[in-house]
Amino acid sequence: MPQYQRILLAVDLTDESARVAQRAKALAASNSAELHAVHVIEPLSLAYGGDIPMDISSVQDQIHEQAKRHLGEFTKQNGLLEGHGHLIFGRPDSEIHRLADDLGADLIVVGSHGRHGLALLLGSTANGVLHGATCDVLAVRVGETSST
Ligand code: AMP
Repeated sequence: MPQYQRILLAVDLTDESARVAQRAKALAASNSAELHAVHVIEPLSLAYGGDIPMDISSVQDQIHEQAKRHLGEFTKQNGLLEGHGHLIFGRPDSEIHRLADDLGADLIVVGSHGRHGLALLLGSTANGVLHGATCDVLAVRVGETSST
């Protein structure tokens, strides 16, 4: 079996990220692969679907600062090398694809929620990452457990 050489872990920086990170770290260790992590900050205007009729730049700056701090803590806690934590502004799924291509990653690791029913198995980001990825994608089950 070919080994993975460069793994990109996508994190939403919620508590669930630790579980997804554990799996990505184990894979990186067993494949002797380089491990990168990415967090994408969605512009508020994108998240709320259009123009917001007020100046939100200071709110967006605060979100950016907080995400930078959290990603810094996350990469430190998980022993990632300097420069292997990436903070990007944009649409999560397309930015994750772009970074994976730029880095030459051969595996993207995301979390997936065990929602009921097949159609809801993957959350929207995990689903978006899976579709259109040019490398393997591993969806690590997190959160609720399915009873079906
Ligand atoms: P969701 O599809 O939003 O339920 O999220 C599932 C997974 O997608 C998370 O566990 C992360 O791996 C990834 N993800 C979601 N949002 C982001 C984000 N803003 N930046 C990077 N990865 C994300």
